[in-house]
Parts: sequence; structure tokens; C-alpha cells
Amino acid sequence: MERDELISSWLDRTARFYDRPLQALLLGAAPRSAKPIELSEVDLGTAKGALRPVAALLGISIEHLAAHTIAAAYSWGLHLVARGTFVPDGHRSPRLRYAACPHCLERQRADRGISWLTRAWILAPRTVCSIHHVPLVEGHVGSISHPIWSDFLRRHRHSNRAVCAIAQAPSAPVTSWAGPPFADNEAAGLHRQMATIQDGILAGAAQETRRRGTVGEGRARVTYDLVWAFTRADRHYPDRLVYEAFASDLLDSPWHVAQRRRPGPVDFPTLSLHERHVLLATATVLTGPQSLRRQFCQSTGPWQADLATLHRRLKDDDRAELAGRQRKWNKVPESTI
Ligand SMILES: [Zn+2]
Repeated sequence: MERDELISSWLDRTARFYDRPLQALLLGAAPRSAKPIELSEVDLGTAKGALRPVAALLGISIEHLAAHTIAAAYSWGLHLVARGTFVPDGHRSPRLRYAACPHCLERQRADRGISWLTRAWILAPRTVCSIHHVPLVEGHVGSISHPIWSDFLRRHRHSNRAVCAIAQAPSAPVTSWAGPPFADNEAAGLHRQMATIQDGILAGAAQETRRRGTVGEGRARVTYDLVWAFTRADRHYPDRLVYEAFASDLLDSPWHVAQRRRPGPVDFPTLSLHERHVLLATATVLTGPQSLRRQFCQSTGPWQADLATLHRRLKDDDRAELAGRQRKWNKVPESTI
């Protein structure tokens, strides 16, 4: 297993090495098991029965494998894991949303000759790489490749096999978001701040394992609480989230916002990576210095005006909840006071 690697990523590499479908290999390790093993549950550590065949396939003990599950290694972040909401049969599912930093994948390939998915990338508040300050891309295990290869595969569909052999890239290209229509240097500044805030949110969550909803310190906490407020139902427009009132044309297009329209509230970790990214970006801009606000904000007024608007948009119980959270904003950034 590589550093911080997801178990499903390790399994995926193993199957690729043997050039056989993963489920066939798992069936070989557990001939009596009738139903396919859900890899999300193996990663999370919620499928106890699946640990034995997976451990057998990987040639390690069950205890060793269990120590690598999210439940064991990221127990503080279980409620922050990015996940889907429903599977086709209608039951609530813990199915994970997988993501990766394209630059890290290339770096891994350059250093180690292979690429793998890390556990840190599946936490919902993580939408920007903490090393490269670029947005992560979402995909399935075995479907994430560098955007360069994805573009190539889209244009040359019949050359999948050859490209995969050369690049060791998976055959299914990932659909990545083209990115916002602003200058690279502006994006870089925003993404750098987002990476710092996301580091703060996750570091705070690791420290406060028992106090849900109070994640991070200073600007990280304020940003996280704003994102929570964004995911509530709008008092004036019940079919919309409060976020719509704050969505910046530069960060999110009105067309995309309308496409995603739904009644609130929604659970942040169940949103797609792109949705989480624009919510976090908007909150980062609102809590940011004037220079950042001038670049992306529709209203160039003071931060207090945004906060007052937010309160007006929330329903009574949500407003009370936000007020409670605000009392814990002990270190609000100077530029926003
Ligand atoms: Zn990276």
C-alpha cells in the first residue's frame, strides 16, 4: 500500500497488474460469497464481511487491513466523508465520492511509477489540493486520470488500449470541470486561500472529534459555518438553497446554478465535488480580504451586509443555529470586521 492509499485504489492496482476484473479476483478469494463486494464499504470499513476476502487477496492480515479503513485511520472525519445519497434500489448508501489531484497523480507516477488515490481526497471539505492549490477532479476508482490523458482519450476513442499501455492510464476518462472564467493568477490566489482554509477545517475536525458542527478555528470555522448556511432552504424561495443568493457569476454560472436547483436543506458531504467547491469558494471570497472580495463579489459592500442578508434569507430555526455558531467565531479575520 502506498502512502495514505485507499484500499479500493490498492485493489484496483492489483487487478490491473493481473489484468483481470477486480470482482473476479475477489470472488476467487471468497468463492462462497454470492454478492459483489461494495468497494466504498471496504474503504469505509463498514463491510466487516468483505475484509476477509480483501485481506486474503492482498496477502495481509484482517487486522492490518482494518487499520487502513477510513473508520480506523480517519475516525474523526467519518461524518465529513464525501458520499452519494442513493443507489438505484432506493436505499441510503454510504457510497463514496472519489476525487484526485491531477498534479499529485503525475507526481506519484514520476516518483514511484504508479498513481494511486489517497484517503485525504475523499473528505468533503477538501476540494483544492493542499500541495498544488488546484481543484480536485471527481471520478470513480479506476477512472481518474490526468486531464491531458482524458482529453486525448476523448479525441482518440479507439486508441484506449495503446494509451493505457503507455501511460498506465485507466480507460474511462473523467469528466472534469473546465474551470471558472477568470484569470489564472486570480484563480491561483483564491485556490491558495481555499487550500489554507480547508487545511484549517480538517485540522479543526481532527481536534474536535466529539463536537460536530464546530469545525476549525478563525476563518476556517467562519467559512465552514457559512457553507452550512448556504445549504439551507431559502426563506423567500423554498425551491432554492440560500447559496443562490450569494452565487457569484465569476465563480458559478447562473445556468449551472439553475440546473442544480432543489429545495433545501441539503447535507454538504452528499454534494458533488464541483458543488462543494463553488460553495467553499464563495464562502472564502465573502470572508476574504477586500482585494479578494473586489475580484469576485457582486456586492462590494462590507462583510456585515452579507451576513445580514444571510440572516434574512434563513428560516427561523436555521437563523438561530447560525447565531449559535457565530458566538464561537472567536477569531474572525481582521479584514472582515
Ligand atoms: Zn496535488
